[in-house]
Amino acid sequence: PVNEPLVTRMREFGTTVFAEMTRLAVETGSINLGQGFPDTDGPERMLERAVEAVRGGWNQYPPGPGLPELRRAVAEHRARWYGLEYDPETEVLVTVGATEAITAAILALCEPGDEVIVFEPYYDSYAAAIALAGAVRRPVTLRPDAGRFTFDPDELAAAAGPRTRAILVNSPHNPTGTVFTREELETIARICRDRDLIAITDEVYEHLTFDGVEHVPLATLPGMRERTVMISSAGKTFSVTGWKTGWVCAPAPLVGAVQTVKQFLTFTASAPWQLAVAYALREEMDWVAAQRAALEAKRDRLMAGLKSVGFEVFTPAGTYFIQTDIRPLGFADGHELALRLPELAGVVAIPTQVFYDDPSRGRHYLRFAFCKKDEVIDEAVRRLQRLA
Ligand code: PMP
Ligand code: GLN
Repeated sequence: PVNEPLVTRMREFGTTVFAEMTRLAVETGSINLGQGFPDTDGPERMLERAVEAVRGGWNQYPPGPGLPELRRAVAEHRARWYGLEYDPETEVLVTVGATEAITAAILALCEPGDEVIVFEPYYDSYAAAIALAGAVRRPVTLRPDAGRFTFDPDELAAAAGPRTRAILVNSPHNPTGTVFTREELETIARICRDRDLIAITDEVYEHLTFDGVEHVPLATLPGMRERTVMISSAGKTFSVTGWKTGWVCAPAPLVGAVQTVKQFLTFTASAPWQLAVAYALREEMDWVAAQRAALEAKRDRLMAGLKSVGFEVFTPAGTYFIQTDIRPLGFADGHELALRLPELAGVVAIPTQVFYDDPSRGRHYLRFAFCKKDEVIDEAVRRLQRLA
C-alpha cells in the first residue's frame, strides 16, 4: 500500500476531502461548491499593497512572531471589535493561516494522552493535529434542534474528564453554519473554568455572520481571556484563502508556547501578505461589511435553489456553507452521492460524514459552499434540478 511508510498515528488520514473533491471538480468539469473559497478577489487596495510590498523589497524573512505592523493591526482590531486588549509584542503571533496556528497550539499545549474536546462535525485538520500530538480527541456531536445545530450541555460536561486538557471551539462553525449564542458560549466557558481547560478558538469566519447575528469571541466571557488561544486568519475575512496568513492572540505564556512550536514548523509567515493584511485590518472593514451583505444574499440564493431541488436545508447564521439533508431526495449516503454528483449533475459538494468520528452520525448530510458568483450558483442549481 502507498501509505506503508506513513507513521501509524497518521494512517487514518488520507488526502483531505477538500483536495479530493476539488480534483474531482476539475477532472469532471463540474461546478465546485465543495472546497470553501471565493471566486472573486478581496479589496483592490489590499491587493495593491501586496504587490507594492513585493516590489518594495519585503522579500526576506520577517521576524518569527510576524511583522510588528501586522501584530499591531491585529491587536487594534481585537480591541476595536471586541474590547479585548492584547499586547502586540508578547500576545500576538502571526502564523501560516489558521491551520498552522491550530496545529501549533495543539502540539504546544497537549501531552501525549491528553484529551481534546472537539465539536463534531469538526474541521478535518483538528483531528490530524490532535493525532500528531499523540493526544486523543473527544467528540461532542452537534445535532439539529429547531433548525440549527447545537450541543447537549450534559454531553459536553460528560466529555470533560481527568485527562481533558483543551477544548477546540469553532464559531461560526464549519460545516453546520452555527454561530454559538452567548448562552452556549457561557456553558462552554463554565466547563473550561471548572475543569481548568484551555480553549482553542477557531474564529476564521468571525466577520461572516448573517441576519444580524453577532459573533461573540469566547475570550470575552468572564475568566476566559486568560485561558483562551484565539485564532483567526485573513483568508475568509478578505477573500484571500491563498494568502495563508493567520494569527494567534493569547496571554504571553500561551503565545510563547505556541511560538516555540511554530518556529520549527515554518519559522515565520510570508512577509508581503502580512503588510497587505495589516493595511486591510485597519482600512478595509467597510469592504468586509459589504462582503458580508453580499454573502448573505448568496446564502439566500443557494438555499432557495437547494430547497427547490428537494434538499432539506439548514439555515447557516455564518460561514460560507449550507448544510443539507439528502434523504428527502431519496439518497442515504452523502459520500456516495458526492462521488456520483459530477456525473448526475455536474456539481461537486462535500460529504459532511468525513468530519465525524463515527461517519454514520453524519451520513445523510452534504455541504454546499455559496461563496461564488451569482451566475455560478444559478447554474449549479439548474444542474442540480436533474436530481429532483
Ligand atoms: N478553520 C476552519 C473552520 C476553516 O474552515 C478553515 C478553512 N479556511 C481553516 C480553519 C483554515 O484557515 P486558513 O486557510 O487560514 O489556514
Ligand atoms: N476551509 C475550506 C473548507 O472548509 C477549505 C480548506 C481546505 O481546503 N483545507 O472548505
